[in-house]
Amino acid sequence: MENSIKPFSYETFPVSGLVAYFSMEIAINPLMPTYSGGLGMLAGDTLRSAADLGVPLVAFTLAHRKGYFQQHLNGSGEQSEEVQPWNPSDFCKEEPARITVSVEERVVTVRAWRHELVGRYGHVVPIYLLDTDLDENAGLDRGLTDHLYGGDTNYRLQQEIVLGMGGARMANALGLTVNVYHMNEGHAALLTLALLEGQLGGGPLGAATESDIAQVRRKCVFTTHTPVPAGHDRFSMEQASRILGGDRAARLEKLGCFHEGLLNMTLIALRFSRYANAVAMQHGKVSRAMFPEFPVDSITNGVHAPTWVCEPVQQMLDAHVPAWRRDNLYLRNAIDLPEQEILKTHMRAKEVLLAEVASRTGLVLNPRVLTLGFARRAATYKRASLLFTDPERLLKIATQAGGLQILYAGKAHPQDIPGKALIHDVIEVARKLSNDMLRIVYLENYAWDLGALLTAGVDVWVNTPRRPYEASGTSGMKAALNGVPSLSILDGWWIEGCIEGVTGWAIEDGADDAEESVSLYNKLERAVVPLYRDVPEKWGRLMRTTLAFNGSFFNTNRMVKQYTRNSYYPVNLIEPAKVEEAAYAD
Ligand SMILES: *Cc1c(COP(=O)(O)O)cnc(C)c1O
Repeated sequence: MENSIKPFSYETFPVSGLVAYFSMEIAINPLMPTYSGGLGMLAGDTLRSAADLGVPLVAFTLAHRKGYFQQHLNGSGEQSEEVQPWNPSDFCKEEPARITVSVEERVVTVRAWRHELVGRYGHVVPIYLLDTDLDENAGLDRGLTDHLYGGDTNYRLQQEIVLGMGGARMANALGLTVNVYHMNEGHAALLTLALLEGQLGGGPLGAATESDIAQVRRKCVFTTHTPVPAGHDRFSMEQASRILGGDRAARLEKLGCFHEGLLNMTLIALRFSRYANAVAMQHGKVSRAMFPEFPVDSITNGVHAPTWVCEPVQQMLDAHVPAWRRDNLYLRNAIDLPEQEILKTHMRAKEVLLAEVASRTGLVLNPRVLTLGFARRAATYKRASLLFTDPERLLKIATQAGGLQILYAGKAHPQDIPGKALIHDVIEVARKLSNDMLRIVYLENYAWDLGALLTAGVDVWVNTPRRPYEASGTSGMKAALNGVPSLSILDGWWIEGCIEGVTGWAIEDGADDAEESVSLYNKLERAVVPLYRDVPEKWGRLMRTTLAFNGSFFNTNRMVKQYTRNSYYPVNLIEPAKVEEAAYAD
């Protein structure tokens, strides 16, 4: 055999080596309350696509035995919260392995529950849910893995020790040989510390050399998810020293992981990663400006198509583009679907949604009336009330449209007082404005099931974030996969997804909220309403191009392939010897 290296081909590309994916939240299935919103959904969709594609991957998260929270809204729009206790043994198998982490100098024992996510062709992605609810732990430590995003910053840092350091040690204890550690957001950044300590064989961190750090960096990759500063976890030196230990805190400070006197989890992740990415093109630009010392690539988010395409649309696609589940790129061929069939199929999805609205609220909405959807976390930058800036004008548009229905949903974090006030305002205005022509409904407890019904069943998906705070957004992608166009601010994914009049419409940038609301009204009045009301065939064509153009790209099937090629197994890092070895392995 000649000693030369075979030219590159996909057959010989060594997609090998286990990836360990770390995420504070993962939406595993609708019955497990282990997620709060977009980050968890993205993590779950990533794992579902990894399972479908056969990527060798395992995931680590916390058990969150009390869940996030169930939202209740009273008549005047005040939110109250209820815990969501669940039993891991109903969905997972307990692993015999035990590891320990040190938290405030206490030894905390951690176990793992294994849940198996099975892909379309049988490939399994195991998810390990870490749990400290064990007899050997002291009272408070038993609750460390109870509440997703609950408690104070002390609780958060303690949870991050369990997730990052605990997860890395658990992977070891389970006998896994991990080649790539993927930190999905900064919450898991402390895994790098466990790897560095492992590298030093238990010696003092102060003894770490550049080459020890380089060894850790070779294995770690990181995804940042938000340009909102509050979304990046920070802890004081006092907290870090007390909870992590003085030696570790001092070492992290030496390594430049503090910013303005605070330990910054994003900085830890960036310092210790060989590759980092943001979650949309625009978010990459914003992230590079936030962290100018680091090269941050972009891999645009997606959603898991078979999870978010509603039953009626699935049937239509199975009949016309049967390969779409295996390879989402075939959704591009949806360009050939008959307009009438799309309209009829969408009507079925809309009827399912409106039946759910009726059963939840007693309100009977009209399936022939233009229906807008707006559902997301009630953070103020998302501007849920932008549509109500000029109530007179909104009423006028509703009349001109022959009726308008607007469906709202979204939770505010229990400690987010402005977010709760926003929900209250929307519900208040909704009650004042609703009449025969305009119906506004706020639906309780936005979660997986309601998200699926809304994104498939409304006619237009509306998103009004304040630029540039939307990293990506994924709910509009779910809508697109059901042929539902978006009407949105040009931020996050929509910069890449918007083709005016073809996949939806852009709300134009303005100097302030008032100006942007004018653009929102203009687009509704001049583009959306006349097309919906007067030219159904054109609306059907719009739905078709939305599905074909955006469904074929904004999916996690494409996204996971980009992660494998750019982050996990980058072509430029593969050593020639490895390529050759792989070429001759069978
Ligand atoms: C998809 C989804 C999200 C994320 O959507 P955004 O567009 O980022 O707001 C949040 N919550 C639920 C329940 C979802 O299904």
